[in-house]
Amino acid sequence: MKLHGFDSEHEEMFQSVFDHVRARMSTQPPLNPATSAIELSEAVGPTITPGGLGVDEALRIYTDHLAPASIACDHPRYLAFVPHAPSTAANAFDMVVGPSAQCGSTWLDGAGMIHAENEAMRWIADLAGLPSGANGCFVTGGTMANLSALVTARDTARRIREAEGRPPPTRWAMVCAASTHSSVASAAQVMDVDILPADLDHELRLTGPAVSEAINRRPGGTEVFAVVATAGTTNIGVVDALDSIAEACCVTGTWLHVDGAYGGAGLVAPSIRHRYTGIERCDSLVVDPHKWLFSPFDCAALVYRDPAQARAAHTQHAGYLEPIIDETVYNPCDHAHVLTRRARGVPFWFSLAVHGTDAYRDAVEQTLTVTRTARNLVVAADHLELLVEPELSVLAFRRRGWKFDDYQAWCERLLLDGTALLTTTTFDGEPAMRFCIVNPRTTVDDLEAIIATL
Ligand SMILES: *Cc1c(COP(=O)(O)O)cnc(C)c1O
Repeated sequence: MKLHGFDSEHEEMFQSVFDHVRARMSTQPPLNPATSAIELSEAVGPTITPGGLGVDEALRIYTDHLAPASIACDHPRYLAFVPHAPSTAANAFDMVVGPSAQCGSTWLDGAGMIHAENEAMRWIADLAGLPSGANGCFVTGGTMANLSALVTARDTARRIREAEGRPPPTRWAMVCAASTHSSVASAAQVMDVDILPADLDHELRLTGPAVSEAINRRPGGTEVFAVVATAGTTNIGVVDALDSIAEACCVTGTWLHVDGAYGGAGLVAPSIRHRYTGIERCDSLVVDPHKWLFSPFDCAALVYRDPAQARAAHTQHAGYLEPIIDETVYNPCDHAHVLTRRARGVPFWFSLAVHGTDAYRDAVEQTLTVTRTARNLVVAADHLELLVEPELSVLAFRRRGWKFDDYQAWCERLLLDGTALLTTTTFDGEPAMRFCIVNPRTTVDDLEAIIATL
């Protein structure tokens, strides 16, 4: 078969691949523990050969060995980390984006794709109440989105200082809480900036007064360029006191970055929308559609109140790139630490366009209803202890009397027999369990069956 072109052999290959996708979409693969690297290489044998294996053999290896050795994160009883529940429409359109050969970097190349992405981004910006100029770009994940936003924040602070004729500070710092996602500490390391920790209140929420205190306590010579608030902590789903944090940022003129990678999706749910009051005052916001907005991997929405600030920080300059630098068009690549990019927001756009936003509202509400019902099951069980009232769709609890090894053994057993994928976490320094429910196909029966094994 030729490397390029589309003849009858290519057509047959497409058919085989489509058949595989159709089979995957119509059946849920079971949960099973990871295969070891040795077992896999023994089962599969050499795959990269001078002459090639041919379509049938390569596809057989994938279907028989590789796919079953990887977990499908959209299993309704995958409840660890933050699960994944792409809509069927978004999955279907994911197959279009790659072969379209349309690059999502610049308007010159990808105007139509970028228009679609901007529509989807606009929906997120509107949910957050951001002004009409707000926009950004879809990046690979919350980690890259947080880094890109924080680079913009520091660059903006630097420009302001320069404009005021002040010398650079000894150190740049950002204010975070203990509940801030690990990717923010990772960004701090990449950027070589410091983290100033701010206290959580009794509800485990970062608040404006704690932010002000952290800023006031900064070491001499340090300037705070951003405050990171979390709209839905990953471990327990707490939304920080965004309005009061926004107030503290406003008083001190500090950039407010809201990390809603997991929880930002809750903006679409009327039953919890009030928890996000103040989010409309942020300078940048991250929401991962690949978490709770039913998009395939990898898709994180990064939105700026003023995208011009992102362009100032991220636009790359080179002789061959100068022709695309054009203030009158929208180039997503100027808004994050990226150049070539897959138009990864397009499958998300397609699903939104097909189903409408009400379907998204209902699907998120559905996961919240399941979480609340499961919360009642935990509260009703004497041997279980609810750790925090679920604000979003994370249910954190303990099995009374259990130590870390007990949780670990239980999780291993559940995965071994294909019941569920769960992982242990810590809460208050002690081991705990959490269910993270973002899949509308996860039912109360699923959770009841898992709880029954405790
Ligand atoms: C998941 C998560 C991230 C990281 O997102 P990735 O898409 O995994 O890179 C960042 N912040 C929060 C709050 C998260 O839940």
